Amino acid sequence: MTGPEYRTWAEVSLRQVRENFRAVAATVGRGVVVAPVVKADAYGHGAVPVSRALINAGATWLAVSCVQEGVALRQSGIDARVLVMGGLLPFEREAVFTHRLTPVAHSLDELRDYETAARPLTVHLKVDTGMSRLGATATPAEVVQALRGLKHLRVEGLMSHFASAEDFTSEQTLDQVRSFEGVCEALREAGSMPEITHLASTNPIAYGRRETWNVLVRPGLAIYGYVSPSVEGPLGNLAIAPALTWYARLLKVREIGAGTPVGYMARFRAPHAMRIGTVAAGYADGLPHRLSTRGNLVSKGRTLPILGAVSMDLTTVDLTAAPELQVGDAVTVLGPGMDAQRIAELAGEIPYSVLGGIGNRVRRVYIE
Ligand SMILES: *Cc1c(COP(=O)(O)O)cnc(C)c1O
Repeated sequence: MTGPEYRTWAEVSLRQVRENFRAVAATVGRGVVVAPVVKADAYGHGAVPVSRALINAGATWLAVSCVQEGVALRQSGIDARVLVMGGLLPFEREAVFTHRLTPVAHSLDELRDYETAARPLTVHLKVDTGMSRLGATATPAEVVQALRGLKHLRVEGLMSHFASAEDFTSEQTLDQVRSFEGVCEALREAGSMPEITHLASTNPIAYGRRETWNVLVRPGLAIYGYVSPSVEGPLGNLAIAPALTWYARLLKVREIGAGTPVGYMARFRAPHAMRIGTVAAGYADGLPHRLSTRGNLVSKGRTLPILGAVSMDLTTVDLTAAPELQVGDAVTVLGPGMDAQRIAELAGEIPYSVLGGIGNRVRRVYIE
């Protein structure tokens, strides 16, 4: 048995995280700030160690979804700018002052509420350009009006978010850029244009859509080494690679005879004598239940088909291809040969949900 004394763990290469950040920075070029997105525990990679690595690589901004995530970064001593993108409820507002977070306001009323607090605060305003999720739905004229005469509040940024950027051919992206530009023009004319405009996440960066990069970009998935196009597009030379490999150890190895049932509902029955192994990871750890009977784990590039149902804590695999494996040995659940994109395809998921779904029992181990 080699490696750490954990039943299951995810090894995260901080060097690869830094390289991915630098690859994004090189793609968008010097004039564009890269604000890596470390929400959802840095897409399952661990927000604090990943944020520290990103700051080491030169990141001055980090983006999170909620106040709780921002506070956790501050409490770990992280001093970079922190943009809170996912909306705030009234009871979360005090924390932005005490923890020096930069909230995104999603309506003009929210701006007025902050202004009424009569304390200095820097915010970004999100305008809805077609996502119908968060973001102000005001007209350009109303936005201009709301930004007029603010005393305490500094609206530093203006942002939006693309609905269909994963589809290079979608016209919605350009519609959204135009709608965003409409707000920018009105603000420019009124002389109250925020300094920092931002729209782009991973896909418009990977597709080389410069018209979306503006002053700042917000890559999440690319930082972790993935892009997620839904149609073929001109994927450029973004030199990124996955940073996380998830391992789990064999708890039991056995020979079974022809006809032996395996797992819940006997969804697999051995067609012939075979050697099988039970692995210490299941759907509660984030191995999708949909991989039952169809996914596979990997050992040194060899395929270990999942036999029957993935259970909550355990998964049974066929060890025929790897006869040397013994109890205690580790196999790869997610990594080279079976990455998050491939798991997503097999499970009808997306790489975001696969990475973000890696559970707490999977210990994170950091390597440089
Ligand atoms: C999550 C998120 C991102 C990052 O998206 P990726 O596709 O992972 O790059 C950017 N902006 C907003 C508003 C988000 O919620």
